[in-house]
Amino acid sequence: MKVAENAVVVIDYTLKDNSGEVIDSSEGVGPLAYLHGFGNIINGLEDALLGKEAGDQIQATIAPEHAYGERQEDMQQDVPKELFGGVDNIEVGMQFQSETDEGPVMVTVIAITDEMVTVDGNHPLAGVELNFDVTIREVREASDEELEHGHVHGAGGHHH
Ligand code: ZN
Repeated sequence: MKVAENAVVVIDYTLKDNSGEVIDSSEGVGPLAYLHGFGNIINGLEDALLGKEAGDQIQATIAPEHAYGERQEDMQQDVPKELFGGVDNIEVGMQFQSETDEGPVMVTVIAITDEMVTVDGNHPLAGVELNFDVTIREVREASDEELEHGHVHGAGGHHH
């Protein structure tokens, strides 16, 4: 069976940035199972896997526009420190959920002064070109329940 809309695809993968540093990998965690065509993974990687089958190995370089988007500098914001009153030790790199007009956004602390905390609402991988090495382990039909939920159940997927 080939990778197509509504297929469950099980992959091993390693993700590197352009300097060769490993950003993410299934190694040690176990293979990832995703439902093709449901936005479970970035669309650039779905496109690269379309039509492939179990045993295939692919390498794909994916531009930010097909991954986590370009960085937007206007998503940085200075916030008075007292708004973090409930947090004891704010450190650079910490992530918080922030309520915005467009719903909750994950922001990352990028700088701290005595009175202000600078947060960045960009995804940590925004603006980063992604280099994937992927091996397809399995391609199978999704169950009706998986299609209804929009994700894979069992190993490498959701447990609930
Ligand atoms: Zn489910």
